[in-house]
Amino acid sequence: MIVAIDGPAGSGKSSTARALADRTGLIYLDTGAMYRAVALRFLQLQVDASEENVPLVWEKFSLDLSHSADGMKISLNGVDVSKEIRTPEVTDMSSRVSVLPDVRARMVQEQQRIAASREEEGKGVIVEGRDIGTVVFPSADVKIFLDASPGVRARRRWVDFESGGHEVDQKAIENALVERDERDRTRTISPLKKADDAILIDTTHLSLNEQIEMIESIVRERMDRRAV
Ligand code: C5P
Repeated sequence: MIVAIDGPAGSGKSSTARALADRTGLIYLDTGAMYRAVALRFLQLQVDASEENVPLVWEKFSLDLSHSADGMKISLNGVDVSKEIRTPEVTDMSSRVSVLPDVRARMVQEQQRIAASREEEGKGVIVEGRDIGTVVFPSADVKIFLDASPGVRARRRWVDFESGGHEVDQKAIENALVERDERDRTRTISPLKKADDAILIDTTHLSLNEQIEMIESIVRERMDRRAV
């Protein structure tokens, strides 16, 4: 069973997918964290996000994903970078490296491999990202596309940064978010867009709990139908 949740930054994908994984026993896969780890490697090497630097990044690049109390733990070359990949600098770089074809090809392949091995173990997965319903798992059992107004999304991101101990101006967050969205929506390969058969949910006026419950009922209905 594969549940695909796509949408722009701050639409509530991560919180919803994490809560849903807890409630349903499905395994949570945060694909944004994978692009962030790639971005971090570019930053560590101090090289630009350009195609010619990708081989240098792959020279020493090993990702390890595991589960932790707050979702997914991600290690890059043996070091836990779960916190480091959330800084504004890595956030900005992530949408620059994610336009590179070789980066996307490797990440998509890895995401498909992870889901296949979970399914072999008899477990379902909840995968969140930008191109999950359109490219990574076009035949996912459930496809959800979350959206919300830019102001509300920026406010949610600001709260995330504050609680993570980063002091950032709310307006600066909104500008960065709109710029990142624009890059994600207009890139040539796998742009952020709703799959034709995805269910669109606008979370602007929904509380987190309301949105989780709405999606949980869609997922459970699908799980029950599969079990029959
Ligand atoms: O979801 P998150 O905000 O952590 O994603 C960081 C960046 O990674 C996005 O802005 C986007 O450029 C990229 N991304 C992507 N495809 C995905 C997930 C994330 O291009 N499936």
